Amino acid sequence: MDRSVEDELETQRFAMKRETIVVVEDESDILDVLEYNLAREGYRVRAFRDGEQGLDGVRRANPDLVLLDLMLPVLDGVEVCRRLKQDPITRSIPVIMLTAKGEESDVVLGLGVGADDYMTKPFSPKELLARVKAVLRRGPLKEERGKGDRVVYGGLVIDTSRHEVLVDGERVDCTATEMRLLHFLASHPGRVFSRDHLLSRVIGEDAVVLDRNIDVHVGSLRKKLGEYRNWIETVRGVGYRFADATGG
Ligand code: CA
Repeated sequence: MDRSVEDELETQRFAMKRETIVVVEDESDILDVLEYNLAREGYRVRAFRDGEQGLDGVRRANPDLVLLDLMLPVLDGVEVCRRLKQDPITRSIPVIMLTAKGEESDVVLGLGVGADDYMTKPFSPKELLARVKAVLRRGPLKEERGKGDRVVYGGLVIDTSRHEVLVDGERVDCTATEMRLLHFLASHPGRVFSRDHLLSRVIGEDAVVLDRNIDVHVGSLRKKLGEYRNWIETVRGVGYRFADATGG
């Protein structure tokens, strides 16, 4: 190929919007191959080597796509996928599962928790890139209508698709902001969020909300939660956290 044509193609490739791909893979040689080939195609790559870091990485990077190995230390790929797909903030990010031969039943399980596609190892870089492009072309997933978006902790049920919060079976009237705030916090138990983060995540896009003071919404929410009020913990000097009720 003519040198100037090659340069021109290279320039075009990097002028495109760079899409971010999070790769979660614990085998170094596979990770290297993935990183190298994706970066060469112009994708921005964030790599993580265990499920927990990967999950956190996806939440921080808000990528266009996740390549998720099935067998991972700390949290396996199925669990990572389940958590990503349960979280309204990350659920629309497409996930391609990477599996080894003989893990087909796990693959079915992976698809059951909402993975969008899977690839069986070993695969060629060419195959992988074709699959990545196909999934990216589909774009972010549309939320399935009527699909339940429930978070349940003991007697506390938050169901955003039905727009209801139940406390020990009793329906509690919440504003849309309160519901979104509670759902967001409860979807990330144990994680601390600053007031600014909550403001941008929960209220940011909602121009109708007049009160931009997170403390007011938390205060009002706590009153409505009765005995579960303490599950929204104040972390002094930082912000708020939903108690990690699953932790023990
Ligand atoms: Ca692995």
